[in-house]
Amino acid sequence: MSVVLRVPAADWRAHQRRVLAATPGLVPVAKGNGYGFGLARLATEAAALGVDTLAVGTPSEVDAVRDVFDGQVVVLQPWRPGEPGAEELLSDERVVHTVSRVSDLAHLAASGLRPRVLLELLTSMKRHGMRVDELPAVRKVLAEDGVDVVGWTIHLPMPAATGGNAAEAERLAKAGLAVRTGRVWFSHLTGADHDRLRATLYTETRVRVGTELWLGGSVRRRTSATVLDVHPVKRGEKVGYWQRSMPGDGHVVVVSGGTAHGIALEAPTSAATGRQRLISAVNGSVEALGWARSPFTIAGKKRWFVEPPHMQASMVYVPGSKGIPAVGDEVPVELRLTTATVDSVVLED
Ligand SMILES: *Cc1c(COP(=O)(O)O)cnc(C)c1O
Repeated sequence: MSVVLRVPAADWRAHQRRVLAATPGLVPVAKGNGYGFGLARLATEAAALGVDTLAVGTPSEVDAVRDVFDGQVVVLQPWRPGEPGAEELLSDERVVHTVSRVSDLAHLAASGLRPRVLLELLTSMKRHGMRVDELPAVRKVLAEDGVDVVGWTIHLPMPAATGGNAAEAERLAKAGLAVRTGRVWFSHLTGADHDRLRATLYTETRVRVGTELWLGGSVRRRTSATVLDVHPVKRGEKVGYWQRSMPGDGHVVVVSGGTAHGIALEAPTSAATGRQRLISAVNGSVEALGWARSPFTIAGKKRWFVEPPHMQASMVYVPGSKGIPAVGDEVPVELRLTTATVDSVVLED
């Protein structure tokens, strides 16, 4: 009675191994909602892949993976004083902290715990990182030897947006390596750019990959919801919290899956404006009423929400009486796996 993600295990793992083979120094990323699979599941997959490092997003996510994955765990979100759980993790030798400000580096160096750190350089992403002009100050702090430097980290924009990141990556990596030698960690580098950099930087590199590893390839991931109830309705009958008038004789199908699963009311389709709206109005279709299309497919079609999704269930309208599902049936639901929370993940043979 829930929202289920089904994945053919062999295909998924074959894809993961292809990414691993094509990405020397691969560091799998498991953060947030675990790309739909959950953090513990991804940590298990990473352990089976045999990689030595896993990246998580925040300090609090370390707990979700540490019992399943026994290698080193990198926290991608820059370390900040006062962040819940951040200070406690400093004495954990398995955890590597990302540092993006000189003041934080100084704080860590003075902690007496000699934490393991990755030094983040600011890229054209402009998210986090220290600027090249701050490197003299970084050098000064490093001279105190209060941190264990694992390497430099460079988080690049999408290659498709820049036409390639090799030049920026090389410039920043060289600037960092001139201050302190170590590994260089990248995100969002094409395979070709990575090969070129490995040849020119003369140091070991690591590449963090999330989306392509877990959600890429031609793996058939299916998400489905369960039909919880079905009610016949008459044209004009008022239904739901908002007592919306039904556009015709048909059925209200109540399905599992609501806001808690990441199912949102998308803006009414563009058909709800302009000329098409007029045509729809003439045809008497629900689009004219500004109804929003749901992600649930019933009898071969995406159906309209009766009203905004509830916390764990949604109400959709199906006209007529053909193809009406029964209680307990599973229906496909389209979910974006980076924003969805499913109730269970089933790895199929
Ligand atoms: C999330 C994240 C990644 C992984 O990004 P994908 O696009 O999912 O591969 C890599 N590096 C950093 C710093 C991130 O925050």
